[in-house]
Amino acid sequence: MLAIDDIFLNLALYDTSLRRIHSSTPGAVDPLDDELRAAVLQRGRPRAPADSPAAAVLMSARTQDNAWAVPVLFPVADDIGAGKGFLLITLDLGYFLGLYRNIDIGRTGVIHILDADGIELAEARAEGLTHLNKRQRFEEFVAAVGRDGSYAGDLRGTGAYLANARKAERAPFIVAVSKELAEVRASHVRSSTRVWSSIAILVSALIAATWGLVRGFRRQHQLFAAFLKSNRENHSLIAQLEAGEARAVALASFDHLTGLHNRRLFNELAASHLEVARRSRKHYALVYMDLDRFKSVNDTLGHHVGDRLLQAVAERLKSGLRSADIVGRMGGDEFAVLLTELDLAESVDAIATKLLYQLSQPYPELEGHEVQTSPSMGIAFFPRDGHDVSTLCRNADSAMYSAKRRGRGCFSYYDAALRPQTDRTFRLQGELPQAIEKGELVLHFQPKVRLTDYRIVGFEALVRWDHPELGLIFPGDFIPMAEESGLIIPLGDWVMKACCLQQAAWRRQGVEVVPLAFNVSPRQLRDSGLPRRMAELLYDHGLGAGDIEIEITESSLVEPLDMAIQVLEELQHMGVVVGLDDFGSGFSNLSQVRHLPISSLKIDRSFVNDIRTSKEVGVIVTSIITLAHSLGIRVIAEGVELLDQLVQLRTAGCDEVQGYYLSRPVPADDAIRLMNQPTIVPQ
Ligand code: C2E
Ligand code: MG
Ligand code: MG
Repeated sequence: MLAIDDIFLNLALYDTSLRRIHSSTPGAVDPLDDELRAAVLQRGRPRAPADSPAAAVLMSARTQDNAWAVPVLFPVADDIGAGKGFLLITLDLGYFLGLYRNIDIGRTGVIHILDADGIELAEARAEGLTHLNKRQRFEEFVAAVGRDGSYAGDLRGTGAYLANARKAERAPFIVAVSKELAEVRASHVRSSTRVWSSIAILVSALIAATWGLVRGFRRQHQLFAAFLKSNRENHSLIAQLEAGEARAVALASFDHLTGLHNRRLFNELAASHLEVARRSRKHYALVYMDLDRFKSVNDTLGHHVGDRLLQAVAERLKSGLRSADIVGRMGGDEFAVLLTELDLAESVDAIATKLLYQLSQPYPELEGHEVQTSPSMGIAFFPRDGHDVSTLCRNADSAMYSAKRRGRGCFSYYDAALRPQTDRTFRLQGELPQAIEKGELVLHFQPKVRLTDYRIVGFEALVRWDHPELGLIFPGDFIPMAEESGLIIPLGDWVMKACCLQQAAWRRQGVEVVPLAFNVSPRQLRDSGLPRRMAELLYDHGLGAGDIEIEITESSLVEPLDMAIQVLEELQHMGVVVGLDDFGSGFSNLSQVRHLPISSLKIDRSFVNDIRTSKEVGVIVTSIITLAHSLGIRVIAEGVELLDQLVQLRTAGCDEVQGYYLSRPVPADDAIRLMNQPTIVPQ
């Protein structure tokens, strides 16, 4: 079996006298010549068992002809240890070393084969195998290897080597591996360099991360500081804008000619006094007056004299009244006075008589002319003749006309019986309840157009009464009536339902619907059942809260507010968008509005109307828009009739517009046509 392994070049058996009995290559020369034989025999017959390495005799030192072929002689013993002969094995060292060829022993690494006496027989290096004809004995090395298997020193005088050796079992060989110390160290240096550089990289990464973290913290701190700063700036901007708005409102609140309150401010102040008046036992009266023959003064003496006359009248009014009274110029030659906190109703008579006298005195120095005029005055009492400013004004105005009819230069009290109720009004009042049942109400729709891209982003539903005989009647003629009588609740419900039906129908027709807004009057907003009915309608018609919107007016926001706010909050909770209509026509301001659940604000038509002609109005509109935006409120302008107005509103940052310039309110069939051409671009 051994013979078939390439490492064994030859196997031969010898008897105790070293005579060859058998050879695996019989023709080959017997490696045991006489000299070798004598030497072996001289050593004495090996007694140890055959597997003891000490018993093996290496005869390589003697065989010089083929250095790779190393004969080894093993004594063969029987079971009891008696010598029976010898086995000679000729090993191929080249083959043996070749087995190590694929092991990376490094640049200077060497595998040595030494015999038991420390004589080197062959070695394998990175360059190849070497058999050594000039055999060297490494005594020191063998001694060191004998102790602990390792050696460090100069092997051949070529430099320091590190070596490790093992005696081959059952064979008289030592196999050693050596390497130049420098190379061994170099690999250590390399790996420690690797370790150190990894540590260095880790440390620098750690430093970079810490630095980044610190920088991040610092940056966050800076951002936070910047945020606080911008927040402070925003607050101060809002404060400035509010102050600006207040200044602009003040500018727009006084009549530039006389310095008196203008109509807007008069209404506002009078309304706040009437709020107090409701809880007071004192008397309040509204006096409305105009100047007799003022037109002829203007026509004959010129406008500048007319203007001077108005200024002089204003002076006399101011000096003739207490500071608690409110005086305003309502337009042209019309003035109004709210007499406040009178102890006796009869005092009004004395005051009116005094005013009549003072204003009827000649005006001697008007641009070189002396002018004589007199006022006609009408008086309405709060609350008997009206609960709010506009009713009181209207009624005092009608009293003034009766004074004029009586012959000018006098005053009259309002008498409810004098109220000029036309046949038509009576008729409408009587027929309104049935109009709802008979289905005579219809909705028209006016688009709201976004100013950035002129897309239609919503519609407002406006109710009309399609009277079989009187034709189309506009809401101004019947909504106040409905509000007074309480009919507004069923009317409002009809509008709400009609809007839902219409949205559902449009959707069925495949139209991509936009939110449809409808108007909700103050009385409806105090109806706690409104949100529930609205939710039911939406559900019944398969609509979402986003499909409808409501518009409330500033007059909804007067005291008592609790119920209105509760209803508004419920609507907001449902997801219904609430817009504030006619903003600026009443008394609310943005600081009140910001606490209400309102998403949009519609600037009153009167502002839009004046935006081109009055610088102050332009400032007011711009500041309303800026402030509303800072509160997250969308701004719509209504009543846009001219391209100029649209351009100014767009410049001021207004979000949407609504008005005749883009489209009048139209019936449903026309509205669908508008929706199918989703933009209305101004020409
Ligand atoms: P609003 O809600 O402010 O509606 C806008 C009004 O301005 C509408 O008058 C509309 O036709 C008119 N309008 C639109 N664009 C222009 C324009 O460019 N120039 C001018 N001069 N007017 C324009 P309408 O339809 O006569 O309605 C008047 C008011 O009646 C509405 O004012 C609203 O307060 C009330 N109203 C209308 N429908 C309803 C309703 O269903 N319920 C309640 N409670 N009130 C309604
Ligand atoms: Mg409206
Ligand atoms: Mg409006």
